[in-house]
Amino acid sequence: MSLTRFQLYIDGAFVDAENTFESLDPATGRAWALMPAAGEAEVNRAVEAADRAFHDPAWAGLTATQRGRLLMKLGDLVAEHAVRLAELETRDTGKIIRETKAQIGYVADYYRYFGGLADKVQGAHLPIDKPDMEVFTRREPIGVVAAIVPWNSQLFLSAVKLGPALAAGCTVVLKASEDGPAPLLEFARLVDEAGFPKGVVNILTGFGEPAGRALTSHPLVSRVAFTGGPATARHVVRNTAENLAHTTLELGGKSPVLVFADADLDSVSNAIIAGIFAATGQSCVAGSRLYVERSAHDRLVEILKAKAAKIRIGDPQDPATEMGPLATLRQREHIEAVLARSLAAGARIACGGGRPAGLPEGWFFEPTIVTAADNAVPCVAEELFGPVLSVVPFDTEEEAVAKANDTRFGLASGVFTASLTRAHRLIRRLRAGIVWVNTYRAVSPIVPFGGYGQSGLGREGGAESILDYTRTKSVWIRTSDDPIPDPFVMR
Ligand code: NAD
Repeated sequence: MSLTRFQLYIDGAFVDAENTFESLDPATGRAWALMPAAGEAEVNRAVEAADRAFHDPAWAGLTATQRGRLLMKLGDLVAEHAVRLAELETRDTGKIIRETKAQIGYVADYYRYFGGLADKVQGAHLPIDKPDMEVFTRREPIGVVAAIVPWNSQLFLSAVKLGPALAAGCTVVLKASEDGPAPLLEFARLVDEAGFPKGVVNILTGFGEPAGRALTSHPLVSRVAFTGGPATARHVVRNTAENLAHTTLELGGKSPVLVFADADLDSVSNAIIAGIFAATGQSCVAGSRLYVERSAHDRLVEILKAKAAKIRIGDPQDPATEMGPLATLRQREHIEAVLARSLAAGARIACGGGRPAGLPEGWFFEPTIVTAADNAVPCVAEELFGPVLSVVPFDTEEEAVAKANDTRFGLASGVFTASLTRAHRLIRRLRAGIVWVNTYRAVSPIVPFGGYGQSGLGREGGAESILDYTRTKSVWIRTSDDPIPDPFVMR
């Protein structure tokens, strides 16, 4: 079978890389596409193109409103081509088609949102404490942005970087993951069609070493926007010691969901199921630690087991499928290894725990629910990035908070309770960048997104995120017509 070929997008042209690698279809484990593997030479060309474009009047001379219009157009093109992009994302990552279609429709809204923000960035007029002076600040684009994304939700995770970067007037080199890069390389065609001047957006794929390293340490890069795992983030931070780029990090999570006995358990179970099994659990905000008030524990586990058993696993391109394969074989091996250690540490499988029957090809794994006594069990403490829910009972609100906060992560959290007063107490006490109350996994371009602790640095989304792609210039203007006094004449 011949492999579909993809190219890099550098300086407004689609080009081959010197090296290539095969991309595997997670539903079959077989190669389906040949991807370009950017090396240092291609990264250098892309960054130099972005640097030229940053200073070129074709981009630098546009008004903020004109930049915003280009982003709006890009949003419209994403919406128009959503089905094609979704099919590619499903093919290359195994994420089910109903999720990729819905998410890409939403990605279009992110570009439109940031398009609308482009001409809302303002400096300030300062009430200066000196006579005959006017002082104001300007927000100027920071420069060339290196954007790096992991394989899950690449179009979405790129939109929260490209959107504010371009709205602010920066130029970008975006590196797709080496796993599942097809949708971003296809998205490059839409960037081209939208009419961005050449070099403003460059899209590569390739491996962390050398492409990710070369990009994040490049001397012409002023800003790094990274999403991925905490271990890789440490490399990225070390890389930026070279260029001192302003860096934001969106990292992993082990998000707690707290369920109190006063909640409607049947309704809550739908949010929990969506929170852990959507995207086959490969979501940074997956609600993977479930803490349940002891009196409701067994009942909720029974409801969840019954619902998990009904999840239809299979071909991710089939619209009826509810859970697809994991994106990579190494993901499945990781999950199996953590589960084995967890069982040895006393955890019990309530349902799932293995490879589903009847799907010998591809990297499928059953929706899995594990019960555990406390946080010491590996599957409660570590990010699995897969369809494994760990359930732990608690007796008091105090204990629930302590268990929820007992993590080095702090991305998201969920609270389910009928008590408004309790919800407000927990909102204040949970150490996480997001608290969802009586809901889970809601996102919007309008709302900041990001974590505490090892879950990252900085926020993406929301109006303020655009400021992270600017720097402030302070301007002093003397308003007196009198000559400037001689500094050596004492008065
Ligand atoms: P990863 O950290 O292995 O890879 C992420 C990206 O970094 C890839 O593009 C990779 O090529 C690149 N990279 C690798 N080494 C590099 C280096 N030395 N320098 C620069 N770049 C390098 O992550 P992954 O396994 O692909 O993705 C899963 C992780 O991403 C999970 O921890 C997940 O929680 C996290 N994630 C976080 C968010 C969020 O918004 N907080 C969203 C999605 C995923």
